[in-house]
Amino acid sequence: MPVYKAPVNDTLFVLNDVLGLERYGNLQGFADATPDMIEAIIGEAAKVAEEALFPINLSGDREGCTRNDDGTVLVPNGFKQAYDQYVQGGWIGLAVPEEFGGQGLPYTLHAAVGEYMSSANMSLMMYPGLTQGAIAAILVHGTDEQKATYLPNMVGGSWSGTMNLTEPHCGTDLGLLRTKAVPQDDGSYKISGQKIFISAGEHSMTDNIVHLVLARIEGAPEGTKGISLFIVPKFMVGDDGSLGARNGVSCGALEEKMGIHGNSTCVMNYDDATGYLIGAENKGLSAMFVMMNEARLGVGLQGLSIAETAYQNAVAYANERIQGRSLSGAKAPDRKADPIIVHPDIRRSLMTIKAFNEAGRAFVLWTALKSDIAHRSQDEAERQNADDLLGLATPILKGVLTDKGFDHAVMAQQVFGGHGYIEEWGMSQYVRDARIAMIYEGANGIQALDLVGRKLALNGGRAVMAMFKEIGDFCEENRGDEAMVLYTKGLKKGLNDLQASTMWFMQNAMAKPDNAGAGSTDYMHLFGLVTLGYMWAKMAKAAQTALAAGDPREEYLKTKLVTAKFYMERIMPETALRKVRIEAGADTMMELAAEAF
Ligand SMILES: Cc1cc2nc3c(=O)[nH]c(=O)nc-3n(C[C@H](O)[C@H](O)[C@H](O)COP(=O)(O)OP(=O)(O)OC[C@H]3O[C@@H](n4cnc5c(N)ncnc54)[C@H](O)[C@@H]3O)c2cc1C
Repeated sequence: MPVYKAPVNDTLFVLNDVLGLERYGNLQGFADATPDMIEAIIGEAAKVAEEALFPINLSGDREGCTRNDDGTVLVPNGFKQAYDQYVQGGWIGLAVPEEFGGQGLPYTLHAAVGEYMSSANMSLMMYPGLTQGAIAAILVHGTDEQKATYLPNMVGGSWSGTMNLTEPHCGTDLGLLRTKAVPQDDGSYKISGQKIFISAGEHSMTDNIVHLVLARIEGAPEGTKGISLFIVPKFMVGDDGSLGARNGVSCGALEEKMGIHGNSTCVMNYDDATGYLIGAENKGLSAMFVMMNEARLGVGLQGLSIAETAYQNAVAYANERIQGRSLSGAKAPDRKADPIIVHPDIRRSLMTIKAFNEAGRAFVLWTALKSDIAHRSQDEAERQNADDLLGLATPILKGVLTDKGFDHAVMAQQVFGGHGYIEEWGMSQYVRDARIAMIYEGANGIQALDLVGRKLALNGGRAVMAMFKEIGDFCEENRGDEAMVLYTKGLKKGLNDLQASTMWFMQNAMAKPDNAGAGSTDYMHLFGLVTLGYMWAKMAKAAQTALAAGDPREEYLKTKLVTAKFYMERIMPETALRKVRIEAGADTMMELAAEAF
């Protein structure tokens, strides 16, 4: 049976030693997050993940969701009880302002907790995950009345949320959207159309479902300029907050899909459903972007989460499975063969995943902290810098952590040999579940285009300059530190490749946009390699500082330094390959006619 243990020590190392969370006491909600409090919350989250969510992960995958003839949807056994336990722990509202029933704690803490929950049961966690995205959109764009009507029940978990963008003919290109909204005399709208692939669209775990739906108001302009966002509740809500008649929205079918079987992916039919405009008319995409940005960080986190669980299982298997002898002589001479963890090639896989996961965790928490600073700092310059870096980091985090999350789920499966292909071991589920994270919330190719086409040039390149400066300053500050040379040398080389590639785009992509499209995925990964390398350099510095101070976690900290070295030796050099590919440009790629493929 699969195993999972929340990496509590690692999270605390990043929060306390690397990011120094206690230094941010001036930010709203951070003063309450004392180190003791953080440790208690992280410990409790680990318990919920390991004891309530993880035990029903494999069974949820096998059982899946069922749609009854009346359109109701049943989730797998045990999901409702585990959801209730999650809700009762107040986890949905951890970082939501107290006035709406939340706890107002740092979003950074919410991200740390989110990793464990998704590692333990990604399908189940998507139900409250979508609610959290919808809460974020209503908080930013909702009227006071909408906030009062919907937020307390959503934060409390008795109502859930969804996001409805996709239609059969319209995925990435939302300008093609057809769902229509007809204004009514009372200020509401009648919404009609079909949405597909809607996660958590229908289920029996909450009393009401609050759908956030993109639709075009009659007479609105074609394309993305004519899209508005609507709140469409499954059950109508009375003035006193009570639930009334069923609205005209229903689940027409469940998608049969490759993974995340425990999450209901629904075809949603809107037949003159009553909807309420949220945000300004025709500005629906920017309102939905609040939800999408939150969701992109959540999906990036899913990539890391699955890679972590897959890794833990591969390590356990590599220690147990005996095959062959170590190349340097028997390591378990009393047994008929050595455990496969002695073989360098198995270690190559395990070290690669470990190095990515630990840096990925630091990257997620670093980004979440930027989000906290961007939303809670009183200092305008600090807030702008954090907001720039958050915007830049979002597509990289989503694209790189999910591409690598899937690669590493496969790599971990490979450690099991043929047993990894057999359902009973659980590795197949991780591979299947990890796959979707590369696709939804904007397929990863689109994340790469967002980075190259939008984020690089935004505000005259302010964000990318801020990132280069932050990394460059770190290298400069540690120039005189002999013990850091190993790490800063690799980081500087990667940064040079990244800066040269950025310059190449500036010189070669303006006049010829195909050059940007052709190099965008390599650029996103190049940026990811450097950012994760930066995280490793920061972690190496923190480990060395703690070791020098006589920290009792000696073995743990030395392990960090070895993993940092592995990253710099064997992963960081990939930046050179990415740069060569980017500089090859689009000519050869675009040369063949479509018929030649
Ligand atoms: C299990 C599951 C759950 C989902 N949950 C939700 C949900 O809750 N709500 C919701 O609204 N949607 C949801 N989706 C939909 C998902 O977000 C879309 O599938 C995704 O955005 C891609 O759209 P598409 O499938 O239409 O692909 P397309 O847009 O047709 O894209 C096909 C391919 O072409 C590439 N491509 C498209 N345009 C360009 C371009 N201009 N340049 C370069 N490459 C391009 C894409 O990267 C992709 O690889 C879900 C999907 C699945 C499978």
